Amino acid sequence: MTAIASRGYLSWGRNLRAEHWVERPSTPAAAARLAAAPMAGRTRLGVGCGRSYGDAGLNPDGELIEMRPLDRFISFDRETGILEAEAGLRLADILAVLARPEADGAGWFLPVTPGTRYVTLGGAVANDVHGKNHHRAGSFGRHVLGFDLARSDGRALACSPSQNAELFAATIGGLGLTGLLLRVRLQLLRVPGLAMEAEDLRFGGLDEYFAIAAQSDEEWDYTAAWVDCLADGDAMGRGIFSRARPAPGQGALPPSLEPRRNLPATPPLSAVNSLSLRAFNALYLRRLGSSGRSHRVGGYEGVLYPLDAVGGWNKLYGPRGFHQFQCAVPPSDARDVVAALLREISRSGQGSPLVVLKGFGNLPSPGLLSFPMPGTTLALDFPARGDETLRLLSRLEAITVEAQGRLYPAKDSVMSADTFQRGYTKLDIFRPWIDPAFASGFSRRVGLTP
Ligand SMILES: Cc1cc2nc3c(=O)[nH]c(=O)nc-3n(C[C@H](O)[C@H](O)[C@H](O)COP(=O)(O)OP(=O)(O)OC[C@H]3O[C@@H](n4cnc5c(N)ncnc54)[C@H](O)[C@@H]3O)c2cc1C
Repeated sequence: MTAIASRGYLSWGRNLRAEHWVERPSTPAAAARLAAAPMAGRTRLGVGCGRSYGDAGLNPDGELIEMRPLDRFISFDRETGILEAEAGLRLADILAVLARPEADGAGWFLPVTPGTRYVTLGGAVANDVHGKNHHRAGSFGRHVLGFDLARSDGRALACSPSQNAELFAATIGGLGLTGLLLRVRLQLLRVPGLAMEAEDLRFGGLDEYFAIAAQSDEEWDYTAAWVDCLADGDAMGRGIFSRARPAPGQGALPPSLEPRRNLPATPPLSAVNSLSLRAFNALYLRRLGSSGRSHRVGGYEGVLYPLDAVGGWNKLYGPRGFHQFQCAVPPSDARDVVAALLREISRSGQGSPLVVLKGFGNLPSPGLLSFPMPGTTLALDFPARGDETLRLLSRLEAITVEAQGRLYPAKDSVMSADTFQRGYTKLDIFRPWIDPAFASGFSRRVGLTP
């Protein structure tokens, strides 16, 4: 198989473009051969749907092994909920085929899902993704029973908590640096219904947010909040808290395999600016009317995947693209740290409607470089406006480091090597498991690989 030279690859944030040698294996054996091919002076990296915002899924001037064609189901046991599939299979495909209501409405569901279903099993393992149910289920890696990993020395290793256990732990959240995931074994979750009962509640500030979050995490499986990132003074930290749980006996068919609509073109300028943002936020806050709350039972698509409705929404930020900032900070002073971050953001006048504030639970991940930690996570997008945006990101990074928090590699394109090393304390245990033939733009930037 010959690599196609130099196709321009864009990160999901569309602010990084890089040339690559691209390979597209169609069988696990072909993928394993690519993992083991002589290096020809270039490093390699497996990639899935390209939904990482920065350079974790890029390998400038190196090889990208596109794993999407490896999308076959291998087996599924309806009694135990154990799924085995190739690593290029998307979560959207798993939902479409397996998450179907039985006679009583109950069924099997993904144990953990990020805010988009257009990610592959390989990508979900390599970033150890988390979802709105982190306080209940932990991260994706907790539900991975095993996988096959092809290494550049020609071995395809079966890894699980009891077999090649160190490599298993290094690969969960291992950013694709330990080799090429060929197939994954996942424990699905039994749910009493495939529809969701969902509530939205308006809150006036961070104290109220933390009170609602503490109470909701006891009773609801999925929780997260939207925050008005421009609000300041007494209004700072106001927003809408969303919580949901499976509705027993209520069936819902899987959402469409592809987005319903597609953004046809990239606008010449970012559609997100301080004027449009202020107007959107004011309107969004008012959408719950005078009661300040809403309650409904319906499909899970609107609760878990609102952004998936429009394909290519990332083009809205115009030709310069955008950055996402996502940090996690420990629980002890989370309220004050989030307040400091929001103050900085509001003062800058930058931001977007896409803001998520969420509590992480205490369930540990088997992954050595897993991002979630007990505490609170804040994520938001910023249109890329050059130095002005980079200066803001650097101030937010400093606040996170000072609070002994960390940034999420899947979302990042700017953090320093020092920030990465201070945030991820198991790096020394991880390093020996890096496959010397594998690298990414991210791994070079933060000093994980040469
Ligand atoms: C709208 C949106 C919402 C999101 N919400 C969340 C969220 O709520 N929580 C969360 O955790 N993340 C979230 N993300 C990030 C996303 O879940 C991760 O970036 C995920 O890893 C992307 O999977 P992918 O298949 O696109 O992989 P890619 O982005 O293509 O690659 C991601 C990483 O996986 C590695 N990789 C991929 N396939 C393989 C393989 N077969 N073998 C070895 N390594 C491989 C790559 O090398 C890279 O390091 C979101 C992203 C978007 C666009």
